[in-house]
Amino acid sequence: DIRSSQLHNETDKEYENALRPLSFNDFNGQRKIIENLSIFVQAARLRGESLDHVLLHGPPGLGKTTLSNIIANELGVGLKMTSGPVLDKPGDLAGLLTSLEPNEVLFIDEIHRLSPIVEEYLYSAMEDYRIDIMIDKGPSARSIQLALNPFTLVGATTRSGLLTSPLRARFGINFHLEYYDDGVLIKIIQRSAAILRVTCSHEAAAEIASRSRGTPRIANALLRRVRDFAQVKGDGAIDHSIACYALEALNIDQYGLDEIDNKILLTIIDKFQGGPVGLSTIATALSEDQGTIEEVYEPFLIKEGFLKRTPRGREVTELAYQHLGRTRQPDQPL
Ligand code: ADP
Repeated sequence: DIRSSQLHNETDKEYENALRPLSFNDFNGQRKIIENLSIFVQAARLRGESLDHVLLHGPPGLGKTTLSNIIANELGVGLKMTSGPVLDKPGDLAGLLTSLEPNEVLFIDEIHRLSPIVEEYLYSAMEDYRIDIMIDKGPSARSIQLALNPFTLVGATTRSGLLTSPLRARFGINFHLEYYDDGVLIKIIQRSAAILRVTCSHEAAAEIASRSRGTPRIANALLRRVRDFAQVKGDGAIDHSIACYALEALNIDQYGLDEIDNKILLTIIDKFQGGPVGLSTIATALSEDQGTIEEVYEPFLIKEGFLKRTPRGREVTELAYQHLGRTRQPDQPL
């Protein structure tokens, strides 16, 4: 089929695209979102109208781009894709908007990175499918109004905290994607293995899932690497022992934590006696952006029980000490 033929010469992007679910049925997890979205999509179809604008937010790799594809598929309309940083000038956006067929989907990734001028243009487009464009320069410059076809804007962001309130207010549908449980990740890994035509035992899928940081993109990437080991060191099939062997060889954290996760925990332990310490202090110590820590890293560390939010700041848990092989120092006298 098309998918496996795409996999002969797979780059990262092709690999990801080949594994993308194409329908609501094919999409695992995020159950509430899927239930609601499929009703909204069905209703829009029945009325022959465009779907309300959709905002998808949540950490990277959880399925925002995939969902935008599925929304267009399920609506039976085309999809145009762009991203916030690419839309430099209002003219770029105007060109895209005027090219949309009735009820089509326009996907804007990283929508928090739109420039303020481009964002303002989007307001009237979203609200009443109109844009004002300036023609001519100097004394003869004037603005004309263009009517657009009704369309659905699907905006995706990892940093919903950075969205302006006028923009946020223009999305009728607003969903936050959550990290996936291991059970769902196992299904995603087995689905991907089937598309790749490689056998993967349940135990092996569970091992990969537990190290995937709750993230389908990471699960699929690990599956790809484990598949290499199975091919070279084994008979091509992925069983538990080859999965463990590969994941050890690749130095993948037992809990799926990435480098920055570990750095956050180590900083709190080594520099701030395990906390409590304020978020801005942690951000400065790590030279990381405070919002990124709060919206992208912390939710996973909290969900997995490595970190707690307390009224006096962030505090690491016993599990973090154990995981990093540190022992808690008794409180130092002042
Ligand atoms: P985002 O846009 O949120 O960064 P993507 O939609 O690009 O994430 O998803 C990353 C990869 O993970 C894709 O290859 C996609 O196939 C896979 N994926 C994401 N969510 C799911 C899911 N619920 N079921 C199966 N695969 C998924």
